[in-house]
Amino acid sequence: MFQGAVRDFAASEVRPRVQAMEQAAQLDPTLIPKFFELGLMGIEIPEAHGGAGGSLFMTVLAVEELSAVDASAAIFVDVQNTLVNALLLKWASDDIKNRYLPRLATEVAGAYALSEAGSGSDAFGLATKATKQGDTWILDGRKLWITNGAEAGLFVIFTTTDFAKGYKGITAFAVERGFKGFSVGKKEDKLGIRASSTTELILDHCEVPAANLIGEVGNGYKVAIETLKACNFSWRRRRPSSRRLGSWSTTPPGSRTRASRIQKKRRWRSS
Ligand SMILES: Cc1cc2nc3c(=O)[nH]c(=O)nc-3n(C[C@H](O)[C@H](O)[C@H](O)COP(=O)(O)OP(=O)(O)OC[C@H]3O[C@@H](n4cnc5c(N)ncnc54)[C@H](O)[C@@H]3O)c2cc1C
Repeated sequence: MFQGAVRDFAASEVRPRVQAMEQAAQLDPTLIPKFFELGLMGIEIPEAHGGAGGSLFMTVLAVEELSAVDASAAIFVDVQNTLVNALLLKWASDDIKNRYLPRLATEVAGAYALSEAGSGSDAFGLATKATKQGDTWILDGRKLWITNGAEAGLFVIFTTTDFAKGYKGITAFAVERGFKGFSVGKKEDKLGIRASSTTELILDHCEVPAANLIGEVGNGYKVAIETLKACNFSWRRRRPSSRRLGSWSTTPPGSRTRASRIQKKRRWRSS
């Protein structure tokens, strides 16, 4: 039923917009609220937080159905569910969950910001710095190639609080678009999946309340990598195609077991 609803939605609401969105290089702003209305932006968020209370398997089905029609729409929903909501559900304090999950389920898009100009494949060579000043963290640096950057209202930002500690100095924060010192920079003009925004983020003495630290100081590398491992799709290697999940050849290390479990479940479902 859920899969059928997403398939119908993709056919009736997404498909007619695909060509114009690809040409405009942006998601149709009238389409975005419809993702929320159908519950696609908070699939695994518990009902108590305003979400659909669903499962990872449902997220896979939704992303698969959207991918068959438009990769950009699929990525918008995928990043929200697997990289932002899942991360907050697993690692954030109850206070952060109470403040942000209801909004992520109903009106606010999210983004996951790890990459920088000098740290792509070497994901933990971050130069973005976080310095504590009383009850506030001051963030300075730039993030690059951030999916959903143009639409997002909430950003999970990975920083370094102590360069001497290497990857053990990495720390994650929940940063609102409106925080002082935060801005969205250049948007990439891509050759494919053009309607999915890929942007720069600028942190210029950005002020983040201490309560917005996700997890603990120094465990950001765990937050980052475990989220990526749990995510079923490798956005690092995602191709602008509508291939079905079963034929995707690249998954992040560690997600293969989970992917094969999902495949088994799919086979069981269709038998
Ligand atoms: C469309 C798009 C969306 C993205 N969305 C996000 C997002 O939402 N959030 C985010 O944080 N990031 C995002 N990224 C960034 C993405 O994760 C990085 O582009 C990726 O990690 C690769 O980094 P890089 O581009 O710096 O390539 P590089 O690290 O420069 O690598 C270039 C090539 O060299 C190879 N290479 C690198 N190191 C080695 C090595 N030691 N030995 C052998 N080969 C090596 C790589 O495999 C690759 O083929 C996005 C990128 C794109 C293109």
